Amino acid sequence: MDVSVFGTGYVGLVQAAALADVGHRVLCVDIDERKIQQLQKAVPPIQEPGLSAMIDDNLREGRLAFSTQASDAVAHGQLIFIAVGTPPDEDGSADLRHVIGVAREIARHMEADRTLVIKSTVPVGTAARILETTREALDEQGKSHLKVRVASNPEFLKEGSAVNDCVRPDRIIVGSDDELARSQLAELYAPFCRNHDKLIFMDNRSAELTKYAANAMLATRISLMNELANLAEQVGADIESVRRGIGSDPRIGYHFIYPGCGFGGSCFPKDLRALLHTGHMNGFQMRLLRTVHEVNEEQRQVLFRKLQKLYPEGLKGKSIAVWGLAFKPNTDDMREAPSRDLMEALWHEGATVRAFDPEAMSECRRLYGYREDLVLCATRDDTVQDADALVICTEWKAFRIADFPLLASKLRDRLIVDGRNLYNPEQVAAAGLHYLGIGLPRITPLASAS
Ligand code: NAD
Repeated sequence: MDVSVFGTGYVGLVQAAALADVGHRVLCVDIDERKIQQLQKAVPPIQEPGLSAMIDDNLREGRLAFSTQASDAVAHGQLIFIAVGTPPDEDGSADLRHVIGVAREIARHMEADRTLVIKSTVPVGTAARILETTREALDEQGKSHLKVRVASNPEFLKEGSAVNDCVRPDRIIVGSDDELARSQLAELYAPFCRNHDKLIFMDNRSAELTKYAANAMLATRISLMNELANLAEQVGADIESVRRGIGSDPRIGYHFIYPGCGFGGSCFPKDLRALLHTGHMNGFQMRLLRTVHEVNEEQRQVLFRKLQKLYPEGLKGKSIAVWGLAFKPNTDDMREAPSRDLMEALWHEGATVRAFDPEAMSECRRLYGYREDLVLCATRDDTVQDADALVICTEWKAFRIADFPLLASKLRDRLIVDGRNLYNPEQVAAAGLHYLGIGLPRITPLASAS
């Protein structure tokens, strides 16, 4: 099928590459000229396992192309995906400027019937709004004879395994009352449903809410686990034992019950705020979700608060090594990453950060530029040279095994604060290090860390 995609971010680009890979002819459009120039040379703007090779193969095979011209995309695709950003507005609502802008642009260039597929995460009612906007624009331009269809097709990929998630989706949600749109999407996704049907059809509003419901459910599990971890610290329990104890119940399962330093990224925090806003606008207060959000806001300060307690005389002049900057492993995305809450709080107190991340170093430089209190180190072991303590923010595989004797010899205060509970506390303590995780009992009594 001929498919066009507006927006070459995590969602648009990965989806486009996956569709081209099964034989569809895909044209991607973005307003970011630099991004498009790089993509035309097969250089992706993001780090995702398998993405670069997939883009390269499909560009060379002629199934994937990139442009900055909206008119080309509208002429090319019988199906047109909208995968542009929906960032949070000041009041927490999803800012639909880009999505609506694309719908208008499509109407402006339409010369034949088109099906618009909304991939962006959008509040309930957006599909209806897009249909109305596009129809109005077509009427204004004397093109009322053209038929526009709208389907909601929210995306559930996870950054860090985006390609795999798109190529092997658990389910494909299609919201539309239009028979043709449904059958077009069934045909488009047939190659992804070879061993069993993964399409779940519903109305637009339910599809839109399904996306928010999924993120709200996962965020709730994380915040509940973090709250339990904080309680475990107070009562001297070990949250890792608790996690194993409850995860073994098949009704609960092991997914999304890791305690940590709060959730971040471009989706959970923003989608939670947008859902709260939707409730508010409909006169419905979502009390549970408001608390999930508040618990997370506090949890993102947890690493800094632990350091503050350990250094009651203040952190001014301290040098803190930080492992992990991305909001989660296998991505360079630092949007709303807990590492940023930590670093910004440390800088505010006059401490220096010596940081390492396997992928997000350039992103960190782009966000914070060159500053004296930020040293980006070439390796994780370089961060602990001349550092007082180490804080772990992201659970990269490369951090799972650490050289504790080396850390004990380098870190002036022999202190590790671990926001991801990566290590066995007894092993760390055996190397003479003080170790503080999230919801873990203290193995070594902490002498004054200074
Ligand atoms: P992103 O910010 O990485 O990319 C959006 C792209 O859209 C940018 O390249 C931007 O230049 C482009 N764009 C903006 N206006 C445009 C226009 N008028 N024409 C063409 N291109 C335009 O965003 P993302 O992370 O890919 O997310 C896109 C949507 O998908 C959001 O609604 C997000 O909530 C949702 N989503 C994201 C993820 C994720 O893990 N990132 C997962 C599921 C859903």
